[in-house]
Amino acid sequence: MIKCEGGCRFGIMGGSFDPIHYGHLMLAEQIRTQFHLDKVYFIPVGNAPHKEAGFMTDKMQRYEMTVLATMTNTGFAVSRIEIDSDTVSYTINTVKKLKEHLEPEDTLYFITGADAIIELETWKNFEELLGICKFIGATRPGVDRSKLVSKIDELKNKYGADISTTTVPALAISSTDIRDRVKSDQSIRYLLPDSVEHYIYKKNLYKNG
Ligand code: ATP
Ligand code: MG
Repeated sequence: MIKCEGGCRFGIMGGSFDPIHYGHLMLAEQIRTQFHLDKVYFIPVGNAPHKEAGFMTDKMQRYEMTVLATMTNTGFAVSRIEIDSDTVSYTINTVKKLKEHLEPEDTLYFITGADAIIELETWKNFEELLGICKFIGATRPGVDRSKLVSKIDELKNKYGADISTTTVPALAISSTDIRDRVKSDQSIRYLLPDSVEHYIYKKNLYKNG
């Protein structure tokens, strides 16, 4: 981990990244600059609690795609913390492990879509998590923010949560849509970095299943 005078401001962004795309990269970059973060760590999920039932691409391949997509941005890095573990990946455990490598004056910002903030109380040990890291919830222009704002007020009052929101440009890109396009032989060019597109074809991902 890097060291910064007065403490570093680290962003962490979890996801299945199956595959990583410009929606993820744009979100991370907007927040990195808006919140003056020293580094954003992308954390590909190892064994997701919510996606257990569904098929996910091999974790090393999801990790490699994440590395390919982020390597041209010096403000981005990829963490192996979840993919190197065989247990189910819960954010609370990941964040606690990350904390062990930080200086006491460093700050962790958990970057997520606004939808995740609304569901935050369903996360394992969310109260403890709210005490360890700050949250940044991103919405797209045009999204009704009233539900989000009242949820944040509630989390602040009940648990002393520190949650900021910001608006990022709308991109209707999702990994699910990209997988569907590959399967049906449609183009995925310009939805994700060329390097990831080439990786997908080379490894023959998303063709079956
Ligand atoms: P899937 O379709 O498989 O669910 P996804 O595209 O939603 O994949 P995830 O890995 O589930 O990607 O998401 C990781 C994080 O990225 C989440 O916090 C999610 O809100 C955010 N995210 C995903 N797509 C976009 C997008 N197009 N614009 C902004 N944020 C996004
Ligand atoms: Mg998703």
